[in-house]
Amino acid sequence: MLAYIGLGSNLNHPKQQIKQALTALNNTQDVRVVALSSLYQSPPIDGSKQPDYLNAVCEVDTHLTALELLYICQTIETNQHRVREKKWGARTIDLDIITYGVQVIASKQLTVPHAEMMNRAFVLVPLAEIEPDFKVPILGKVQDLINKLDISALKKL
Ligand code: ATP
Ligand code: CA
Ligand code: CA
Repeated sequence: MLAYIGLGSNLNHPKQQIKQALTALNNTQDVRVVALSSLYQSPPIDGSKQPDYLNAVCEVDTHLTALELLYICQTIETNQHRVREKKWGARTIDLDIITYGVQVIASKQLTVPHAEMMNRAFVLVPLAEIEPDFKVPILGKVQDLINKLDISALKKL
């Protein structure tokens, strides 16, 4: 199965945090990172006073189920000392499953495609960089989604 994972960090050397998480993902049995976007910088989504975020999107080829992949992502977050404080608070690393093949999932633990992806330039722009013609399940063409957004605050590094 091909899945896309969004990575984000705004604490404790964000670039290294993202690199470390990618290495951990790729070192997971039955998970192979097959594509990676550039890094993108943007201000926090809630306008709160915290450092800018670095984000990237990777594509993984995996034999894990979507839920197993979520647990792997959460384990990597824990290993990188992510502390869960308030919603959308600063964090060392965040790994979100953006899509998982063409599956549509709406369970207590997991919503796929990611529930906020259509509102987030830092997800859509890197996704389109990897796969310009990507059609997001339910939501449609990634390029059409980008065209509806203001992406001016997003800086490609
Ligand atoms: P947001 O979901 O708006 O990006 P966040 O990433 O800061 O916010 P977290 O605290 O990391 O939110 O995650 C909260 C919960 O979201 C997780 O415990 C997980 O069960 C759930 N979740 C639902 N769908 C997904 C998904 N597609 N990828 C990752 N987590 C998800
Ligand atoms: Ca997130
Ligand atoms: Ca998350």
